[in-house]
Amino acid sequence: MSATIDVMSLYPRDMNIYGDWGNVLVILRRLALYGYEPVLHRYNQGDDWPGHVDLILGGGGQDNGQKLITEDLFRRADLLRGLAAGGMPMLMICGLYQLFGSYFQTVDGTRLEGIGVLDVFTEGRGHRMIGNLIEHTEDFGDVIGYENHSGQTFLGSQATPLGRVDADGTGNNGEDHTEGARVHNVIGTYMHGSVLPKNPRLADHLIRTAVERRYGEFRPDRTEAMRTGLTRLDEMAARARSVAASRPR
Ligand code: GLN
Repeated sequence: MSATIDVMSLYPRDMNIYGDWGNVLVILRRLALYGYEPVLHRYNQGDDWPGHVDLILGGGGQDNGQKLITEDLFRRADLLRGLAAGGMPMLMICGLYQLFGSYFQTVDGTRLEGIGVLDVFTEGRGHRMIGNLIEHTEDFGDVIGYENHSGQTFLGSQATPLGRVDADGTGNNGEDHTEGARVHNVIGTYMHGSVLPKNPRLADHLIRTAVERRYGEFRPDRTEAMRTGLTRLDEMAARARSVAASRPR
C-alpha cells in the first residue's frame, strides 16, 4: 500500500477564485504520480479539524468572503500558528495571504485582523492591480501567475519576499517591487492563475517538504507510466507559462 499524504484545502467554499482550486488538483495529481496516496480534506467554517494534515492550501477571496471566514480563522489561529512554526508547508493565495498577515484594511475602511503568521500588513486602495505577472524567485525560478487585488501589502522586518517583479510589475504593492512573503515553510502570494499548474517547481517544493516531514525522505515512484505522466504535465506547464508570459497585462 502506498504512503498517504493528507492535503487540506482551507475554506474552499468562500476562498477560491480565479482558478485557485487548480492548486489543489495539481498537488493531488502530482502526489499520485510520485506514488503517494493523496487524501483531501476540505475545511470550511465550523468543520472539525482532521486528525492529520501534511500540507495546507488556501485560496483568494473577495473582501466579503474574507469577512465570512475571519471568525473561524481566529478559532483556528493558535493551531495554524503552531503548525506554521513547526514547519508545515502552506501556500496561501491573495485573500488568505492577506489574512495570514497582521491585518487587512479594506477599501471601505473595515479592518480585518489577520492571524499574524506572516509579518505583513495590507491596506485596500482605490485602484486594483490586475494582470499577468512574472516574479523572479531564488528557489523556484520565475514564478508566473495572474494578480487581481486592491489590497496593497507591505512587508515588516521579519518577512522575506517570495520574489521580485520588474519595474512594470506590481506585486505586493506596486511600489517596492516585492511579491509575496515567506516564513518557515509558509508561502503567501498574490499569484492566481492558478499558480501551481504553471509552476511545477513550486508544487514540487510543497510536496517534497510535506513528504519529508511525514516520512523522513521523499522516494518518488520511478516507473515508466508515472514518469510519462509527469513529463506530460510539465510540458503543459511549459506551454501555459510561455502563453501567460507573452500576454500583456
Ligand atoms: N479582496 C482582496 C483584495 O482585493 C483579495 C482579492 C483576491 O483574493 N483576489 O485585495
